[in-house]
Amino acid sequence: MSILRLAIPSPLRRLFDYLPPEGISVENLQPGIRVIAPFGRREVIGVLIEVAEESEFSLNKLKRVKSLLDNSPPLPQHLFKLARWAASYYQHPEGDAIQQALPVLLRKGNACEFQHETLWRASETASTDQLKANAIRQIELLQLLLEHPQGISTDALKAEGANISALSSLAEKGLAESFQRKHSHHDEQILHEAPLTLNSEQQLCIEHINGQHEFAINLLEGVTGSGKTEVYLQAIEKVLRQGKQALVLVPEIGLTPQTVSRFKQRFSVPIVALHSNMTDRQRLDAWLQAREGIARIIIGTRSAIFTPMKAPGIIIIDEEHDASFKQQDGFRYSARDLSVMRARDEKIPVILGSATPSLETLHNAIEGRYHWLRMTQRAGNSAPPEFKLLDIRQENLSEGLSAPLINAIRKHLESGTQVLVFLNRRGYSPTLTCHDCGWIADCNRCDAHMTLHQRPPHLHCHHCDKQAAIPQRCPECNSDQLQPVGVGTERSEQALKAMFPDFPVIRVDRDSTQRKNAMQEIMHKVNTGDPCILVGTQMLAKGHHFPKVTLVAILNADSGLFSADFRGMERTAQLILQVAGRAGRADHPGKVLMQTYHADHPTLQTLVNHGYCAFAQEELHNRKMAQLPPYTHYALLRAETSTQGRAESFLAAIRQQLEDDMLLPHDASWIGPFPSPMEKRAGMHRAQLMIYAENRKSLHQLLANLCWYLEQNKESRKVRWSIDVDPADT
Ligand code: ADP
Ligand code: ZN
Ligand code: ZN
Repeated sequence: MSILRLAIPSPLRRLFDYLPPEGISVENLQPGIRVIAPFGRREVIGVLIEVAEESEFSLNKLKRVKSLLDNSPPLPQHLFKLARWAASYYQHPEGDAIQQALPVLLRKGNACEFQHETLWRASETASTDQLKANAIRQIELLQLLLEHPQGISTDALKAEGANISALSSLAEKGLAESFQRKHSHHDEQILHEAPLTLNSEQQLCIEHINGQHEFAINLLEGVTGSGKTEVYLQAIEKVLRQGKQALVLVPEIGLTPQTVSRFKQRFSVPIVALHSNMTDRQRLDAWLQAREGIARIIIGTRSAIFTPMKAPGIIIIDEEHDASFKQQDGFRYSARDLSVMRARDEKIPVILGSATPSLETLHNAIEGRYHWLRMTQRAGNSAPPEFKLLDIRQENLSEGLSAPLINAIRKHLESGTQVLVFLNRRGYSPTLTCHDCGWIADCNRCDAHMTLHQRPPHLHCHHCDKQAAIPQRCPECNSDQLQPVGVGTERSEQALKAMFPDFPVIRVDRDSTQRKNAMQEIMHKVNTGDPCILVGTQMLAKGHHFPKVTLVAILNADSGLFSADFRGMERTAQLILQVAGRAGRADHPGKVLMQTYHADHPTLQTLVNHGYCAFAQEELHNRKMAQLPPYTHYALLRAETSTQGRAESFLAAIRQQLEDDMLLPHDASWIGPFPSPMEKRAGMHRAQLMIYAENRKSLHQLLANLCWYLEQNKESRKVRWSIDVDPADT
């Protein structure tokens, strides 16, 4: 009797055995196809892992698969394998990992095929003269159709404000017709515009990359403005000429219309961008276009790493250091690290690009495991920015700004250029305090203060999203002397407006860009080139090109130097350099002024005077001394419960168990348990146990044992636990 072994989305780290559906021969069933199977009291969609000859359960206990959803597997073999590998590497239940590699509609059981979209166009001879002058709605609609000779969907018509109920009248008069769009291969025209002439550094990099015909890992380390994008574009061009496809992953914050249009400007091949504004249907269609080889360039964020390609040619990870490539909950995979696995399996090159590479990647380059390509000069005419620390220990700050900084801002605005003011805190003020008794507005669900927002006025916890009204009086002493302490972007915006009434002040943070198209409107204002002040959070640091910005003012970046997280220093350095890199990106030389209370901090000095690589080598040395990653491999076992102390005692028991029972690899060890950096969040008390090993194999052996143990253990059902392999933060 044949058994179907299925991966089913469930928290259990195991496969499930079923009998085949009645009357189906199992010989031709391919691993990877989706099936519908009864599971508990529900029916679920599972994926066939293998057809087995026997089960450890007796046959009469096994249920039968209800039906098959696919003839052939939606995920090509390589990706099916990648998802399974990732499940085991990240200690995540396989059924869930495979599901997450699929577009949402396939997870829900939809057919794995295109929905050919219905489009409308004007008929060949139609003109608005054929309509009565008072048929305004029909005239407007026909005009729109005439503007879209390739056809336009009803959704797109609605978005243009058209009244689509008039479509049928137009069709009756023979002025409009509908047809089905079929996705088809385009002509072999590749370029839309001529490539730039490369400078010598770019030239060396591209020669290197374009000489690779199989698996190779490249670190493209290029200072901000060195023209990494042009290198990507020319590497992609070569791949396209060979009839292959390119996958480009960008950070969450970097997938802007600006980024995508840069690729569309260069190439005339079909490009799909997988972004969060798409419907599930659009996503599936884009995914299918990639799988069928119709889309030639695929641009997306983290989850796009699982997009299949019919003819894979290259994978590019832009800003490879960015933390958004690591999923922070559920299936905690790193798209960057998976890209290397995928490229190895598909035998193609991968480029990891950054001005500030992660220490892991840099370490691999230094050790010679990655090709290390470096670009130290800015491309074109622009010069590197001049970087200066402003010691503010003796300064009186006015709304977070020191006098020398205010003067510098004035000077740049008056000379007709733009200024970028960076501070990493949104809202009006990070705390609301009682002047009389010292009470502070805290979140009752987190170990955190509530942030005061003025637009609209409310208190907001940035950790659990709780919102509350602003109290009129102190709840402790009834005083009315409640004061905002500290400066956020809203407050800075207000202060800058008062200081520079003749210049526009534009705020850029998550709050000011929530509205659809808000970012485009902002970019439009900035692109006029008129002098203005941009004030905002790290949203300003990534992906945007502000050619007229000559001064970058950094208000409060140095707190990260003393973070409890061992990556704090690395992240702070990356952030500072990314923000600084916005200065002087075109013909105008740029200047960076960074306010700091720690002007003589040796690390800061190295960073400012000798650059990222010098900083990184020092920091790598520190990591080596402390036996931290990348010199060890580690994972966090996290636990959370609603009762204080419970998570920690649970982990302590696990630790005891490890010590007593388990065959421990000799190089594995642990630290903790400790309360998490923010012990209480969203009402849950949290703790963690850090498990590490010199050898990756040892770590994984230990984690696999641990998972098995946790699943058997009764206590572990009473807490929420998770394992995070190669965590991005602690
Ligand atoms: P990076 O991503 O490395 O920070 P970009 O790719 O955004 O840098 O390039 C910075 C600027 O330099 C862009 O305006 C780009 O058009 C320009 N640029 C890149 N390469 C060249 C080149 N070879 N010649 C002239 N300009 C270039
Ligand atoms: Zn008070
Ligand atoms: Zn909270």
